[in-house]
Amino acid sequence: MLLSHPRIYLDATGEYTDSLLIRRNKVLAVGEDARHAATSQDPRLRPDGACLFPALGDAHIHLWGLGLRPGTIDLRGLDADAALDRLADAASGGDGWIYATNLDEHHFSADQQLTRRELDRLFPTRPIRIQRVDRHAIWVNGEALRRAGIDQHFQPGDDGHAARDDSGELTGLLVDGAMTPVLEAIPPTTLTEDRQSFLEASELLRQQGIAFCTVARCPVAHIEMLKDLADAGELPLYVDALVAGTDDGLEGVLRSGPFDDGGKLRIAGIKFYADGALGSAGAHLLSSYRRGGKGLAMHAPGFLKRRIPQLMKGGWQVAVHAIGDAAAREVLDAFQDVPSQRRRQLRPRMEHAQMVDPVDAPRFDELDVIASIQPIHLRSDAPWAPTMLDDSQLSRLFAWRSLLPAALAAGSDYPIDDLNPWHGIATAMTRRGADENPFRPDHALTRREILSAYTDGAAFASHREDYLGKLHPGFNAEVAILDVDPFRAEPDEIWETSARLLSAEQVE
Ligand SMILES: [Zn+2]
Repeated sequence: MLLSHPRIYLDATGEYTDSLLIRRNKVLAVGEDARHAATSQDPRLRPDGACLFPALGDAHIHLWGLGLRPGTIDLRGLDADAALDRLADAASGGDGWIYATNLDEHHFSADQQLTRRELDRLFPTRPIRIQRVDRHAIWVNGEALRRAGIDQHFQPGDDGHAARDDSGELTGLLVDGAMTPVLEAIPPTTLTEDRQSFLEASELLRQQGIAFCTVARCPVAHIEMLKDLADAGELPLYVDALVAGTDDGLEGVLRSGPFDDGGKLRIAGIKFYADGALGSAGAHLLSSYRRGGKGLAMHAPGFLKRRIPQLMKGGWQVAVHAIGDAAAREVLDAFQDVPSQRRRQLRPRMEHAQMVDPVDAPRFDELDVIASIQPIHLRSDAPWAPTMLDDSQLSRLFAWRSLLPAALAAGSDYPIDDLNPWHGIATAMTRRGADENPFRPDHALTRREILSAYTDGAAFASHREDYLGKLHPGFNAEVAILDVDPFRAEPDEIWETSARLLSAEQVE
């Protein structure tokens, strides 16, 4: 096929051409070469849109767990009344549990609230569970409380909170540890449901111009599902799965070794968590939070230092979640114990790298560690971060420029955060929080830097930089059609970008 458009970007440097010759899903030639090499056998296609762009990657996404279920009702951005309307529409008919997610009471007007009472009016007999956007709280109705065995005498432990109204009645809002009885009463997802969630989320990604992703934590039990989808030619995305490093079945996975056939599925990474999340004061810090405590380390001292070199010796890429600066240092120390040639070959990754001591920042480049960042977390966290961290701690938060020239790979952390990569790209450029105030704008990334992190950077982190992330000759023809030109548009316009992928049928 001869694809033509006045602006076909070849990569994140902004170089562009007007023609691509595509055969069997590969870019064969660009520009004048493409026009000359095309024959009458090659169908012509001239898509609309402001430009064509290499399809993006999402370097950190969750496609299972975290409450993801097929048919979950998305309440992102809605106030209480709109949320109730959406629930009434979406959950009419049927029986059994109703699942909704991404509710954020910051969108409620002052006189609005959402309690068990409103939910019971809509759903007197069906249990409903609504997740807060950060997954640290849920709203439930009376039937859900009943099934969870929660009555008016319920006393959560120190790690949780159950909200009560003026008369002392439970409102149905349960925070952290208080959610446990409800979460345990909900039937676990089946593999069939997980397969459905995976396919639904993949479709959402494709609708944003994303063709490849790293699954940031893949349970061992889901590996077969991915392999079956890949064998059947039904994987909607190129998937790079990081296997959960503490899963029971891991030994079997390690015995069969890393899997990468150069096709759509790669299972060659192992994922660990060094600490928790900042919002719940679980990120492991070098100095105390404003309210005291330094967060928590997930593993016993020395575990990562022992385990990481072992796994990398076996040819595995290792990725470790590290949000606090103490966690980042622990992870860099562990990577440092791996021979440098092996590091260069396997590309260890730090997931989030959200807070890094200035002493440690240059070590990413020195140790060939990829910084896997999620710019959209800045938008979510910046408004409240100053309530938890002092100025010196804030200065090392989301300090992306200090990590350069290390390789950056960008992603969303969906469903924890907004999966729209154009929101992430705009946020990386403006560093605006959800309150619209810029947070340390001196660490803003240029459009080239952030577009690279979402294309060739994400491909590099997945060892796919030879065929994804660019549209050079020899690359796979994974093309996004954008209605905004990201090299010329203002960040606000980039935020509004809509994108779609040129479908495989079109490029056959
Ligand atoms: Zn994550």
